[in-house]
Amino acid sequence: VNYSMEEIVSLCKRRGIIFPSSEIYNGYAGFYDYGPLGCELKKNVKDAWWRFFVTSREDVVGLDSSIIHNPATWKSSGHVDGFSDPMVDCKETKLRFRADQLFFSPVINEQNEILGYACVQENTDEQMVKDAKKQVKDLLKTLDKAGEAIQAFSFKEVNEATEEEMKQIPSPASGKPTLTMPRAFNLMFQTQVGALSDESSTAYLRPETAQGIFLNFKNVLTTSRQKIPFGIAQIGKAFRNEITPRNFIFRSREFEQMEVEYFIPPGDDVWPEFHQKWMDDSREFLLSIGLREDLMGWDVHKGDKLAHYAQACTDITFKFPFGEQELMGIAARGNYDLTQHTEGSGKSLDYFDEQTKEKYIPHCIEPSLGVDRLMLALICSAYAEDEVGGEKRSLLKFDPKVAPIKVAVLPLVKNKEALVSVARELFDKLRVRWNCQWDATGAIGRRYRRADEVGTPFCITVDFDTIEKDNSVTIRDRDTTEQVRIPMDEVVSYLSKQIDG
Ligand code: ATP
Repeated sequence: VNYSMEEIVSLCKRRGIIFPSSEIYNGYAGFYDYGPLGCELKKNVKDAWWRFFVTSREDVVGLDSSIIHNPATWKSSGHVDGFSDPMVDCKETKLRFRADQLFFSPVINEQNEILGYACVQENTDEQMVKDAKKQVKDLLKTLDKAGEAIQAFSFKEVNEATEEEMKQIPSPASGKPTLTMPRAFNLMFQTQVGALSDESSTAYLRPETAQGIFLNFKNVLTTSRQKIPFGIAQIGKAFRNEITPRNFIFRSREFEQMEVEYFIPPGDDVWPEFHQKWMDDSREFLLSIGLREDLMGWDVHKGDKLAHYAQACTDITFKFPFGEQELMGIAARGNYDLTQHTEGSGKSLDYFDEQTKEKYIPHCIEPSLGVDRLMLALICSAYAEDEVGGEKRSLLKFDPKVAPIKVAVLPLVKNKEALVSVARELFDKLRVRWNCQWDATGAIGRRYRRADEVGTPFCITVDFDTIEKDNSVTIRDRDTTEQVRIPMDEVVSYLSKQIDG
């Protein structure tokens, strides 16, 4: 893509899509607020997902579980002991970093003598080099050997560093070691439930929505008349105390997930087909709401990256302006979770297959998608610049299904009572069904530009011919800028075809 994250962040702020949280108090790292347009976009994305994976299928049902579960949940699921990232502290600045995002490299002179170590804090090349150069400059100032260093870096993850190597990383000011050894940092937010505030009252904000599904497996099974294979879907907030929240809403500390646990019979020959089907369906869904296909990719987890209990996991990736990153994961998790909760709770979470008369703990396929991350990918997919009538315009080519505003109604002039009231009548009729925008001020071209910039797919203009001649209006298409003239009473059915499909 030929635009930067700064442009996306600034557009989102300017047009009321996304604001930094608590901005009047200088913000709060890792938290964001969705403005008037952002919350529409978000709602449309969630609705589209729910329609695609829940209401349009007979084999998936919904759930809305509590955010705080009995803390025993997180012991059984493995999160209390294992949901952590490696972290290092900088003793000097007191800043904390994720060790797997921190690299260091020796800085050497022409005689191959190590002058010091440079540390950088990004895994994207461009940023790494930029930071490294600055680090080296600072380092050389303190070592008083400017000019002698050659820029030969071979960066190594701090995770892989030995204690000896860590000790050699000098602080620019003092020459003393700045970084602690990496250690595990649990990402779950803790809180206290009830009036007593001791260890027994410690509870956690859920770091994923999935566990609420497993806890309710039996409840849903016995009340929904579903038979395996079937799925339970949930959309909701999740919280992670990320060490380094970054890249806008890509990695935040409070976010939303859309997850399904799809329960299947056990067997090594069973899961691959279901796993493939969920990958195909996930891809189809993403394309159906306007994700750019040329920016999508796949990442099959292997070796260390694959959780020990999982049979397979494949990410769908997206090329964000800061690099290709995970958008969602589709995992075949075996029966790990239900087994863990059976052991932890002492309640059986098995399934009786009436046909085969077999009893088993179901296995599951888990597609897990972040709402906010998807929104960022959709905004990146939709962002475009072109020229109309010799004038530059920036636009968001949102699919009509997710566009925050579907239609803008524009009376050609605002001082002609008859014309304005006809336009107003149309506006009132349309907004019963869709989120619409009334815009009566400024030249018509400027009003089109405003609509383009927030991704409104259709602009309807009521002009003098509408009231004096043909009772028709023009509908302008955002992407092609082409206009069609349509009788007033056909507007709803025309738009319905375009917006609702
Ligand atoms: P990462 O390795 O990037 O931390 P993860 O592999 O831990 O992510 P999962 O636990 O698989 O992520 O979470 C499933 C999905 O939830 C992710 O694909 C992403 O869309 C979303 N997600 C996870 N963490 C965050 C976050 N901090 N901010 C926004 N979305 C997130």
